Amino acid sequence: MGVPSVFLRTFGCNFTCSGFGMPRGELSMEAAGIAATHSLVTPFQKYEDLPLVSTGCDSYASWMPEFKDLSPMLESNAIVNRIMEILPYRRWEDEHLVITGGEPLLGWQRAYPELLDHASMAGLKEITFETNGTQKLTPEFKKYLANWIDSNADGHMRNSNSLTFSVSAKLPCSGEKWEDAICPEVVCEYEQVGTVYLKFVIATEEDLKDAERAVDEFRNRGFKGHVYIMPVGGVEQVYALNNRAVADMAMRKGWRYSDRLQVPLFKNEWGT
Ligand code: SF4
Repeated sequence: MGVPSVFLRTFGCNFTCSGFGMPRGELSMEAAGIAATHSLVTPFQKYEDLPLVSTGCDSYASWMPEFKDLSPMLESNAIVNRIMEILPYRRWEDEHLVITGGEPLLGWQRAYPELLDHASMAGLKEITFETNGTQKLTPEFKKYLANWIDSNADGHMRNSNSLTFSVSAKLPCSGEKWEDAICPEVVCEYEQVGTVYLKFVIATEEDLKDAERAVDEFRNRGFKGHVYIMPVGGVEQVYALNNRAVADMAMRKGWRYSDRLQVPLFKNEWGT
């Protein structure tokens, strides 16, 4: 948090997470309503024009098929050029690359080597994948990542801290099924190539109990990384309702607290 970072957001997700911010067992229709407006009434012209939602997945436009027209299909060269434009000195210094989604470990695993091998990416020192922790690494990509860690970033030695998997495993409050969302064998495999932490979105004591059960399952499988809990809330009113309570829960459990810095700072606008 607070580290200058470039976010690369891939399109598509294997989940819909319509349960966030809803009473348990109910699913949000907020994003579906926006999708209907976009498809049937007045199309939004760009991502930045889309409304923020207070329930369901706050990244809905990065996976709902109705919004695919707002996500450009770019070749690696064009993506790298755009990344270099964003970097303050037009070269990598301390900035991290955060690859997010949707779910960035879907079929995109095939595309990352070409992107990361681009000459302009040679100075990149740290990558984070923001994943829901359900997608196995392909043997080819796992091998690629191991080699990437063992190589140099323009004279700077990389190591296992250079690659992070930020695993936001989905609890029942997301609306996803436990057996689909809690995949310890997948996440433990990430630990073979990089640093991994778990991050759970929490609104209630019931969610905390679910997180405890999930952590037990991950630990029983050999997971060694840190555990973070984060308050639910893609908009400030919702986030402010429970951030203090979730911080207290983290202290009680000896886990780490993850804030949502982009919410108070940037109001969770698209692009932040
Ligand atoms: S896994 Fe993440 S991106 Fe996918 S639907 Fe859930 S919250 Fe949204």
